[in-house]
Amino acid sequence: MFENSQESRTNLSELGEFGLIDHLTKNFSPKLESTIKAIGDDAAVLNFENKQTLVSTDLLIEGVHFDLAYMPLKHLGYKAVMVNLSDIYAMNGTATQVTISIAVSNRFPVEALEELYAGIQLAAKLYNVDVIGGDTTSSTSGLMLSVTALGVAEKDEVVYRDGAKPNDLLVLTGDLGAAYMGLQVLEREKEVFKANPNAQPDLDQYTYLIERQLKPEARKDIAPLLKDLDVKPTSMIDISDGLSSEIIHLCKNSKVGANLFEEKIPLDPAVISVCEEFEIDSTMIALSGGEDYELLFTISQDDYDKIKGNPHLTVIGHMTEENEGMHLVTRANQKLPLIARGWNSMEEKED
Ligand code: ADP
Ligand code: MG
Repeated sequence: MFENSQESRTNLSELGEFGLIDHLTKNFSPKLESTIKAIGDDAAVLNFENKQTLVSTDLLIEGVHFDLAYMPLKHLGYKAVMVNLSDIYAMNGTATQVTISIAVSNRFPVEALEELYAGIQLAAKLYNVDVIGGDTTSSTSGLMLSVTALGVAEKDEVVYRDGAKPNDLLVLTGDLGAAYMGLQVLEREKEVFKANPNAQPDLDQYTYLIERQLKPEARKDIAPLLKDLDVKPTSMIDISDGLSSEIIHLCKNSKVGANLFEEKIPLDPAVISVCEEFEIDSTMIALSGGEDYELLFTISQDDYDKIKGNPHLTVIGHMTEENEGMHLVTRANQKLPLIARGWNSMEEKED
């Protein structure tokens, strides 16, 4: 969605590649001590002294990962940064810099890219990261956006996916399912709008869900919170695809099994009511919906007292020996095997 479409439209060719880069990046001045040189040379120069460097990258393609029919470009820019910062936070690190690469067709005017960059700039400001470079090229169709995030952590602070032990507690930040249900609401409104362009949707009751889909926030707060609580997770991952596939990643990497308790899975009341409305099982949505960008981690049982009662953290299960397998324990106390039916753009397109 390009909100400025009624107003001025400057063709990309009017600025040219270098003019466009200058125009989009003129407001990015580096703030961090670790950024020695940002945009404007052949490479950025960083200095992390003796810390370990974390790097993560993601590629987003129009029509596969986002639909501009309901995704405002400013939100897309913001979300593209969040998705990457989330991966740095999932290593228990501090995000420090991002690079932004775009391939864009001349269907987009300069003003559209300004909106995209306004979202990127807002994310960089709120999350205290410097934009230190990127690449700009033309595409024959649509928009592609690749973000690379860098971060740092002390060597003994980094948390990998492979450290979970049997009997460790499985802990989740925030709540699940809202981003996926937000997408369902937006898809439905898109169909309604196609049928009747004059329909005025009343989306008030879905605000939380739509925000979680269009403007996700990465969990920058969790690494410092855990440090304050004096807890170091034994393993950690971020929830991009859905709870079950992330639990399976932790288990496979750590060579353990897991029991996940259905009754413990945190759901916002808005998720419960929209699932009733759509006649979908809310547990299924938590397990397989994606894009919540919460963190999932394991801690030693000895640390339970330190996290108990914290409003950001919920114990949802525990790890077991590998040969016990991975299970969902239902409210009716049935044990079902956990399967990864993760929300996955590949699977959707191959149908
Ligand atoms: P090069 O010829 O070395 O690829 P460019 O002319 O593409 O250099 O880029 C010039 C500078 O602008 C570099 O510092 C590069 O990192 C930065 N840059 C290019 N495109 C973008 C972009 N889309 N967003 C942010 N920085 C960019
Ligand atoms: Mg270049």
